[in-house]
Amino acid sequence: MAPTAAAAVAARSMRTFLIMGCPGSGKGTLSKRIANTFNVKTLSSGDILRHHIQQGTELGKRVTATLASGGLVDDAIMVDLMHHELIDHVHGGHVLLDGFPRTVGQARDLAEFLPKVKRRLDAVVSLDVPEEVILDRIDGRWIHAPSGRTYNMSFNPPKVPGCDDITGEPLTKRPDDTREVFGERLRQYHAITEPLLEYYRETGLLQVHTGSTSNELFPKIKAGLEPLF
Ligand code: AMP
Repeated sequence: MAPTAAAAVAARSMRTFLIMGCPGSGKGTLSKRIANTFNVKTLSSGDILRHHIQQGTELGKRVTATLASGGLVDDAIMVDLMHHELIDHVHGGHVLLDGFPRTVGQARDLAEFLPKVKRRLDAVVSLDVPEEVILDRIDGRWIHAPSGRTYNMSFNPPKVPGCDDITGEPLTKRPDDTREVFGERLRQYHAITEPLLEYYRETGLLQVHTGSTSNELFPKIKAGLEPLF
């Protein structure tokens, strides 16, 4: 096979997906199940930002207040950050983007950027979860901040109360999981991120799944993605 044709085949085998859903819709949990099932690397913009904050990097300092208030980080910062992440995974196989893009501006940038790293978008998974389910769930959510592993005291508790299953380290509450900040994050989602659904519907890549729990949603997501592998 000619080198260019071989490169094209290799590029086609590197799938790139997005998962969208309002805060608390189970994106994190479902991303991990998708990652394990299809051998996909998840790039979660929220986890990457929280990691910067934890490490006290310059970027972390710039975005701390924004995350604490439930607002959105500037598009320019986000696209720069995610370009670097994608460049790091140029040869890294399948990628699932979680939490990025979150604005139409970010989505347009991504469409332009992906071909530069020999990728194209293969599917956009959107979670449609009733809002009352989400508000109940958020109260019980605890995380292991260094890894981004998420637990829920009602339906996905850690083996040892208050401790991460893998490392045994203490779990914490996300500072933006208070009802007040959470309300702001939901508002941002409806006002700014939801219009993205229309943007992606027009591309023909959108797969919307409705359900209340990850056990209900995952089989639908799996069935939607399977034909792409
Ligand atoms: P998440 O963990 O995806 O809920 O993200 C947590 C917070 O990080 C959000 O409330 C925003 O403040 C910020 N954030 C994450 N991804 C983005 C993005 N693509 N654009 C702007 N802000 C973001």
